[in-house]
Amino acid sequence: MASDFDFSGKTTLITGAASGIGAATARWLDAHGAKKLVLVDMDRPALDAMDLSCEVDRISGDVSDSALWTIGMRDLGEIDCALLNAGIAPGGKSIVDSDLAEWKKCMAVNVDGVFMGLRRVMKAMAAKGGSVVVTSSVSGTKPYPGTAAYATSKAAVLQLMRVAAAEGASQGIRVNAIAPGPVDTPIWDKADITGSLHGSDDARAAMMRELAKGTLLKRVPDTDEIAASIGFLLSDLAANVTGIALLSDGGASLRV
Ligand code: NAD
Repeated sequence: MASDFDFSGKTTLITGAASGIGAATARWLDAHGAKKLVLVDMDRPALDAMDLSCEVDRISGDVSDSALWTIGMRDLGEIDCALLNAGIAPGGKSIVDSDLAEWKKCMAVNVDGVFMGLRRVMKAMAAKGGSVVVTSSVSGTKPYPGTAAYATSKAAVLQLMRVAAAEGASQGIRVNAIAPGPVDTPIWDKADITGSLHGSDDARAAMMRELAKGTLLKRVPDTDEIAASIGFLLSDLAANVTGIALLSDGGASLRV
């Protein structure tokens, strides 16, 4: 029996593919019959270590560098799906204490990277349509203190997604966002949400317990759960879905 999520014959480009949510989505698509994956990340060794059974192209580069999207993808060819997911999460400082360079870096990776990615993949999909998911965050919808640059960048990603959905519709291109709540990935390695939890494995587990308290379900999901939500949006099962943000946040957005 064919899988409900059938990616056979489909090529998907993923940015931020070497770790966390991007890597889990690559594995998920591979397990659901993907024909080919184009994996993009700035971490070349981690990209090379990705072990998948489908055909794989690996492109190393910085999503905030326009050359990645032009010279680096000269031979991209047609793609059916894309996950524009590479992102960074500086944080912990109030607006008053924040640094302009850190703000600009966050916008360059999280917003410029998605903007240039949309430009490139929508061009590649123009002939026969396709499905794009951009990675936002529950932080793009709620004003968590100490997240000015990150939260603003993720809100911008949501609005970029809506405009892209409106522009892509006539070409059969669907564009949606995944908005995860906290997920245990290396993006948290430099985080220090309580000011005292950084360092050991125990400290990391304590940080995850702290993050879980901010959800209704009182849990932090693993990356496979987020990958499944992304897989749904990318798949033909979501053929009538465009311009939405799918919150996969254990109810964090409803916490008051
Ligand atoms: P991660 O750190 O595990 O993975 C991010 C990947 O992106 C890494 O492989 C990294 O090398 C790559 N990357 C970073 N900057 C890049 C750049 N400039 N160019 C190319 N590649 C780059 O983190 P993750 O949690 O899997 O994050 C993926 C996305 O999910 C991010 O956009 C993040 O903001 C978003 N997100 C994460 C969480 C969470 O709690 N983990 C919650 C909401 C949203």
